Formats: sequence, C-alpha cells, structure tokens
Amino acid sequence: MINTSLGASPARYISSGYQPKKQAPLHDSPQFTGKKHIVPALLLTAAVAPFATATPISRKGNGDIAPSIPGSITTAIPTALVSRSNTDGDVATFTHANPTLTVHVEKGPQADKRSTKDCTITDKKAHEILEKPPFGPRNRSLFSKVVYGSTAYDPAPPQNRSKQDWKNFYVDAQTEFYDTLEPNPAQHAAHKARATRDVQLIDDPKIVSAIPDIEARVAALFLIGTPVEDEAFKYLRSGNVKVQFGPIPGGTDDKAISELVKDEQTGKQYHRITLNELYKGEDPRLHAALIGHEFNHQDGNVNSRPEEETAYAIEARLWLLRLLTHGNKLASMPTQLTQRENTEALAQLNTRVDGRLRTKTGSGAIYPNSSAESAQFTNFDQVIQVNNSTGTVKPNSPGNDYTRGAVQGFTKTPLKKDFTFNDSSNALDQHQGFFSDKQLVRIANASLDLNV
Ligand SMILES: [Zn+2]
Repeated sequence: MINTSLGASPARYISSGYQPKKQAPLHDSPQFTGKKHIVPALLLTAAVAPFATATPISRKGNGDIAPSIPGSITTAIPTALVSRSNTDGDVATFTHANPTLTVHVEKGPQADKRSTKDCTITDKKAHEILEKPPFGPRNRSLFSKVVYGSTAYDPAPPQNRSKQDWKNFYVDAQTEFYDTLEPNPAQHAAHKARATRDVQLIDDPKIVSAIPDIEARVAALFLIGTPVEDEAFKYLRSGNVKVQFGPIPGGTDDKAISELVKDEQTGKQYHRITLNELYKGEDPRLHAALIGHEFNHQDGNVNSRPEEETAYAIEARLWLLRLLTHGNKLASMPTQLTQRENTEALAQLNTRVDGRLRTKTGSGAIYPNSSAESAQFTNFDQVIQVNNSTGTVKPNSPGNDYTRGAVQGFTKTPLKKDFTFNDSSNALDQHQGFFSDKQLVRIANASLDLNV
C-alpha cells in the first residue's frame, strides 16, 4: 500500500577514508549568549515524560548538533548524553555580492508554475551550473538570521485544524507532490487517488498508537512517496517507536529529541521521539524531515558523529525533495522552522565537487556572502557540531534497517551487510543518487531563490 518505486541500483560502494574535522568550540562564538547548566536527572525525567510511567534511558536528537547556529549550548545529564542549541543569534552583518551568470533560468515564485520536466535547460547545462561555486541567496529572509542577518521569524502559530481539514490538506499537498514528480496530466487522477487512499492511515490503529498527535501523524504521512517510505512505515508499525509533540528538556529550541525509554508498566523499552512543541504549528512537511532524521537514532548508545552526519543528510534531502515539488511557496513560509530547514538544505545543496552533491568535501564557502562564524564552512558535515560536556562522541555506531532503506533510497547504492553509520555517511557523501542535476538546479533557482 505504501510502496515506493525507488529501487537501488547495483553500484559499488567505495570507502572514502574520511576523518571528522575538528570543530571550534561553540562557546568561542561571538553570538554565544547561553549558559551551561546541569539539569538534575530526576527533575528532567519529571519534566519531559509525556508517558507518565516511562523512564528515559538515553537521549539523542537533532538539537544535539546545531547546523549553522554558532550560539549553541551543551547540557550535561548524569549517565545520558543531551546537548542542545539556543535560538538563532543576533544580527550578523551581510555583504551582498553579485555573481554573474550567463545562462537564464527561471527564478523565484514564477518558476513554481512550471513542473520539473518543464525546466528549459539541458542536462549538460544543469551540470555546468552545479560545477560553479556555491550559490548565494537572492532572498536572505529565507534563511536563518544567524547566517544571513536578515529577518528572524517566529515559530508558526498553532493550526487548530480539524481532522477533516488535515486530510484535505494532505490530499491536496501530496497530489501536488506526485504531479510535480510525474508531470503528466493523465496521471493527476491516479495521484489524487493514491493520496486519498494513503490519508486513511491517519486512522490506522498502529499508526495512531505510535503517533497520538494528529499533527505529527500527518507529518509522518508526508514520508510516503519519499525514499524513506518503506522502512519508515515498517518501523512505525513495529511497536518500538512513539512520536509526539512535547517540551524539550531545558525548554530550548531544539527541533526534536530521541530517547530510549522504559515503560515501567510493561517493562518494555521503546524509542521515544519528542518533536518540540514550540514548533507544533509549523508545516507538517517540515516535521516529516525531522522524523526522518530521528528514526536513525534507534538505539540507546551515545551518538557517533557519522550517525549525525547520516541523520542530517537524510533530513536535508527530505526537505530538498519537498522544496523540489512545492517550490518557493514552501521555502518562503515566514516561519522559524522553515528558515532553519532551508539553511540546512542550502548547506547540503552547496556542498558539491565537480557538480556532484557531496557531504564531506565541497568547493568553497557553503554560505556565500555571509559574515557569520559559519561563513568559513566549506561542506555540509562541517556545520554539524556534535558536542557534549564530557566529549564522549563515539567514532562510529551500528546502522539499522530504517537507515539502510533511507540511505539506499537517496544514494541508489546498496549498503553492505552489518553496515555502520560510517558506511552510510560515506555513501551519502559519494553518491548523489536520487536527485538529477536538473532537479538540483531547479531547487536552487526556483525554490531557494539562489544566485545560480
Ligand atoms: Zn540527531
């Protein structure tokens, strides 16, 4: 019912021998305004346990590293790893540069009216564009203020939609998603039928049990049609994961957090994902990318850097896919979480070598024309800062079925048996896979409104 036709090609996996780069301590940032605190474990448990009898065993999430947000803080909790980032920082000055471009490509909202295959440039021209240095923004307000010094939007206000409203929202948005990926008017009815069928999962008992909040359930449904679909829904039906909105420990603006918790009534351990309630009103397609990140963190072990590199690359590519299909109207939503996800997408899109999407090596500053601390970053993985107060970041950690499905789907490249996150992060670095050159140019030009 929720199959995807995104098969993996039998390309050969090649290890890159990558070593993580040393990062400057976050507290050196001029924007840093936070303080370190120690939160007593008991207090923390009481404050964040949405399932009253669940005891956190360990935590990790996608606030523990802070892409492009220099003012991050780290919190120590006995026997568990938790770290988090603060809000986007103060004004950073910005100098606009004006790179010249000889080829005309449509830009901004106008291009939304056109489908992917309408793109008037050739594959060769698309590749030539991607071989150029990283693209700077034409509209700084699409990105986090800390990077481009423009408007810092608030989180979106609560939506208060009825279930029927959510269903209609999903069917309309998901039909547009399929219509853009397969722009054939004869297929429109089939696309709408698929979305109409899949939205019934909103009442599926196993899905409801795994995701009680309807906003988060709609978000998970937006993983359908993406490369992570099959394994994401197997995981959701496994009974081993729960997703909900709730407060994040310490009340920070972390986007989400993963914890391995024990249900004291049943004695069973499960993976609890808490999406920050601060962002509950944000578009569920944003939360789909966050869920796609957190599903990687299934075990209770302390994070490894390659695990976060993998999780963030999947998150960024899920958002890039949404930007491809919904264009500038999605990228320009005036909300805080949109700016954060756009900034990650920009970092991923601007990490290229010889016109191919990479993660560990790039060809110049990924935030062109930024004067923020992060302006020095030259690849996607550099903006991922794995920090905790004890410095216990593992060099590697074992993979899982969800990660395998997600990474194979996006890279179109098989992972070996018993792969580790080192393998998956290398695969994401080495295989552009899913996205065509024209699609990447379209995202850069039309959706993110970049100076291609
Ligand atoms: Zn994470």
